[in-house]
Amino acid sequence: MAYYLKDLPFTEEGKKLKLSDEDRERFRLVYKREGDGWILHDIYEKGGEYGDDCIVVPLESTLAGNAYFEKGQEFANVKGSAHDPKPQGYNSWIDLWGQLSGTTPPYHCCTDGMMYSSDGKMKCMNSLNKKMIGGHVIKGKNSTIVVEGEIVYIVPICEPHNLMASGYYMKTANKTFAAMLNYKVNPHAYLAQHPLETHEKI
Ligand SMILES: [Zn+2]
Repeated sequence: MAYYLKDLPFTEEGKKLKLSDEDRERFRLVYKREGDGWILHDIYEKGGEYGDDCIVVPLESTLAGNAYFEKGQEFANVKGSAHDPKPQGYNSWIDLWGQLSGTTPPYHCCTDGMMYSSDGKMKCMNSLNKKMIGGHVIKGKNSTIVVEGEIVYIVPICEPHNLMASGYYMKTANKTFAAMLNYKVNPHAYLAQHPLETHEKI
């Protein structure tokens, strides 16, 4: 069971978001403790197995904004400890991207269909473009480093692109909407006033 910080103050970008009550409940985010803060872990799912080291927060409390990747932008999957192996329920991320971008299914992989590495490139094995993921990505070629406080972007990619080995990166085929979330949160000021143990566990 995770602590539900339902009144954690919204970010400036979060305040602009007009979510229905239903969507607000649907897109609550789970952050897992790591070091002196919590890092992005999952979209909350009822019955999901979250430990006491997790907090659940409204999307509006951690939304950093919206951005666009220009055509040809290089980007790589985030390989944070919480994302490897993939948490259950990660399919919801594509719905979150759809919600924030105002896009409806079917979704398409935003890449140019190639997987890039320092050795060159190869074709992604996803000719049918079946399963789409809300990929957690960062700009650049290096999938392993998310600097503290950095932003993680959510963009639509296919499952093979999501599961690429580290060392590979992608490029956008076209200008692509990217949701920006805080990768790590440190709500210490809020928790000083509202200690973790005082929050409902869900
Ligand atoms: Zn793909």
